Amino acid sequence: MKKYQNFINGEWRDSVSGNTVENRNPAKWDEDLIGLFPSSNEEDVNLAVCAAREAFNKWRLIPAPKRGDVLKLVGDIMSNRKEEIAFEMTREMGKVIAETRGDTQEGIDTAYYAASEGRRLFGYNAPSELPNKMNLSFRMPIGVAGIITPWNFPMAIPTWKIFPALVCGNTVVFKPAELTPKTATTLVEIIDEAMKKVLGNDYIPGVINLVHGKGRVVGEAFLSHKDIDLISFTGSTEVGRRINEVGGRMLKRVSLELGGKNAQIVMDDANFDLALDAVLWGAFGTTGQRCTATSRLILHKKIHDMFVEKLVERVKKLRLGYGNEKDVDVGPCVSETQRNIVHSYVEIGKNEDKATLLIGGEFAIEGELSKGWFYKPTIFVNVKPNMRIAQEEIFGPVLSVLKCEDLEDGINILNGTEYGLSSSIFTNDVNKAFKAVRDIQAGITYINGATIGAEAHMPFGGVKGTGNGHREGGWTVYDFYTEWKAVYIDYSGKLQRAQIDNY
Ligand code: NAD
Repeated sequence: MKKYQNFINGEWRDSVSGNTVENRNPAKWDEDLIGLFPSSNEEDVNLAVCAAREAFNKWRLIPAPKRGDVLKLVGDIMSNRKEEIAFEMTREMGKVIAETRGDTQEGIDTAYYAASEGRRLFGYNAPSELPNKMNLSFRMPIGVAGIITPWNFPMAIPTWKIFPALVCGNTVVFKPAELTPKTATTLVEIIDEAMKKVLGNDYIPGVINLVHGKGRVVGEAFLSHKDIDLISFTGSTEVGRRINEVGGRMLKRVSLELGGKNAQIVMDDANFDLALDAVLWGAFGTTGQRCTATSRLILHKKIHDMFVEKLVERVKKLRLGYGNEKDVDVGPCVSETQRNIVHSYVEIGKNEDKATLLIGGEFAIEGELSKGWFYKPTIFVNVKPNMRIAQEEIFGPVLSVLKCEDLEDGINILNGTEYGLSSSIFTNDVNKAFKAVRDIQAGITYINGATIGAEAHMPFGGVKGTGNGHREGGWTVYDFYTEWKAVYIDYSGKLQRAQIDNY
């Protein structure tokens, strides 16, 4: 049985305690044990943070374009290994291989974007109010970045955080989700390989460190460690709130990407075939386990019955199975616990006043499916906006369908949750589309597209309970990983005083 390790100060090593946990295939639980991974503790975190702190003083002095060269090579290696990474990711967390290829591709795109940012990282300059004086500003690295990630995008999400952190000159301590340690290990192997190749004799151990383990042990140790300067977290609202509380008290910079309760609106003037394809993809892709998954469908009352009928026909045709096999549309839930959470929401929905379960609502256990954590794609109709299945994140293949009177009503329903990550509207009326862009409260709005499918070079994140105002992706994430330094250069030969000598 292959035993995997942490990566600390440039070396692969066991956890201090020597404890390990199993990683298994959620589609073939009993028969496919992937490996044993370290169950680390505070001591491992401390070793990793010390290594990262020490490395920071060297890494920040490597010119940013050279740091970018490392990321360029990371992108190349990931491209060469894309098929293997995708296969192993499907094996580890269950989504179908087309999606794990996409997850890997997002990492590759992010690597190339970060590589080119090494040659930008633009600052601003501004005129001085005094003669013979120049004002400049620069982006400076911050220090040690603690990166904590979930299991649903085991490659893309870590790369959104780690690549910009590194190219800006920060060092990294990375704690991946307990359910996806293998993909995280591969990512760190690749980064280290690229570091060694690009830096040669100038290789700096400790720039990237990986500590596997439980959130409430390893993650908690990140929060309270005085030498972690910033924490970037993607995960549940509950844990995000805790990170913000502790991080806030310690004056750490904290970026949070949390839950969602995303909705797709379909107006009566829409292209229904497109809207149907979109909701199938948005609600049941990744088995509904995306932060941007479509978990509410808001239909104009005139088309409601017709649309629901077509939707149910399409859902019946979805094929469940192990995502590395041919012709599979929907993989398993990531774990037994996650499947139980999904089912508990279905029970809540069945008991809510007048919500009607149309299809699904049970474990899928036919034949080979009995070996994994499969759940049947599920649809509720007659859902009212205040019901729990319309308000709370389920994170599984469950879609709640609501009816709206008109555009305004649809947008009000869409906005009526504590979250604000992704949103979508299908309409062929340009006026309605622009009103929706203006009035929908979400970090992402798609016109005639599903709620999923963010591109690596665009800002990613949500409003309201989905986050704390930061954005990942594109140019925006670089604000999180750098601190501004203002520089004044006086070449007048006099001691000039702003505000006093000039006005
Ligand atoms: P989770 O919050 O349980 O875990 C996320 C990470 O935090 C894991 O690495 C976990 O080990 C760690 N963690 C757990 N407790 C911790 C603690 N006390 N201190 C520090 N770290 C701790 O979430 P999950 O189940 O892995 O992922 C699902 C959630 O993530 C969903 O709510 C989903 O909406 C959210 N998510 C959000 C986005 C986004 O961009 N907004 C993207 C993907 C997932």
